[in-house]
Amino acid sequence: MNDIYNFSKLEIHSLLEKNNFPTYRTSQIWRYLYKNQVKKFDEMTNISSDLISFLALNFYIGSLVEINNIISKDKSTYKSLFKLPDGKVIETVLMNYPSDNHRKPRKTICISSQVGCALGCTFCATGQQGFTRQLTSGEIISQVMYYKNLEKEGFFDSKLKNPEKSYKGVKNIVFMGMGEPLANYDNTIKAIKSLNDDLGINFGARNITISTVGLVPQILKLADEEIQINLAVSIHAPDNKTRTETVPINKRYPIEMLIDACKKYIEKTNRKIFFEYVLLEGQNDSPEHAKKLGLLLENMLCHVNLIPVNPTIDSEYKRSNKDVILDFQRILKKFRVPSTLRMEKGIEVSAGCGQLANTNNY
Ligand code: SAH
Ligand code: SF4
Repeated sequence: MNDIYNFSKLEIHSLLEKNNFPTYRTSQIWRYLYKNQVKKFDEMTNISSDLISFLALNFYIGSLVEINNIISKDKSTYKSLFKLPDGKVIETVLMNYPSDNHRKPRKTICISSQVGCALGCTFCATGQQGFTRQLTSGEIISQVMYYKNLEKEGFFDSKLKNPEKSYKGVKNIVFMGMGEPLANYDNTIKAIKSLNDDLGINFGARNITISTVGLVPQILKLADEEIQINLAVSIHAPDNKTRTETVPINKRYPIEMLIDACKKYIEKTNRKIFFEYVLLEGQNDSPEHAKKLGLLLENMLCHVNLIPVNPTIDSEYKRSNKDVILDFQRILKKFRVPSTLRMEKGIEVSAGCGQLANTNNY
């Protein structure tokens, strides 16, 4: 048995061909899966019964079982603990944002790309637990479809606080859950292509963000893909000494290499890069760090997201205080580097950035 979400449209086409079913069924099946969001094959009412039996015998739809969930106190954030077919677990988060000055109200899903992570950033709960395995493209898609199904059933409207009831729909996907998506490159891109397909669930590429710790060869490869997704790069420090202290992969891909790859990416795609900077008190938040970051990023098509560190079990980093953060932003502004302080959600239920792990502490 295999998850049908693992199959691209082309692969479903060849599957039908190989098994002597008419290939024009491909787009019908695709629409049932990703537009009608069926959960069982026998809901594909227009399809012949022998094809339904073939599909039901060999495949299932979606590979996750939600074994636990939790809602934040302010009812803005919903976190799930999912069991995968081999018993491993991952976490996924949905955040409900009210409208602000620039943007409409929106729901964003923060999804995982690996079980654990091998890269060991010192402030990250996923990094602290080490690497177990890659997620398949079907397991990546399943996280999105699971939440799309809950959304369709009106689940979030009843469970979460919904300041603007008129707004419906999960609109954004960020690869900021467990794992390093560019270390699971093929499955991540395959999943994005299926989710982006306009015959199906039709997630706009511009509403999908990949966050990477800075794997240089993959950033360069991504620049050549024909998909207009957003790229976020976790920079966290403006010099190699500071960065290596918290982001071990910096030894392999030091800052000069990383910035060079980012510049090439921007040149090729004409797209802005979002730099993520987790502020760690006394570690990377001095005016000197801000100045170096300003010098590094000035004249680049980019935006900096400053993220006060979220607590994790195994680290003792503290958030920088408000004045230090404002000062940091002021210095960046002098270099004409735009920045935002990220609105974090669900911290007390460990659903914030870098807090996802596979522990069942619900
Ligand atoms: N591996 C990718 C994506 C997953 S982490 C990456 O590192 O970019 C998503 C974001 O959460 C990254 O920017 C990461 O640096 C940040 N993060 C990790 N631990 C954090 C913590 N304790 N507090 C705040 N952000 C954290
Ligand atoms: Fe892995 Fe990203 Fe966490 Fe670093 S921050 S350990 S790359 S998930």
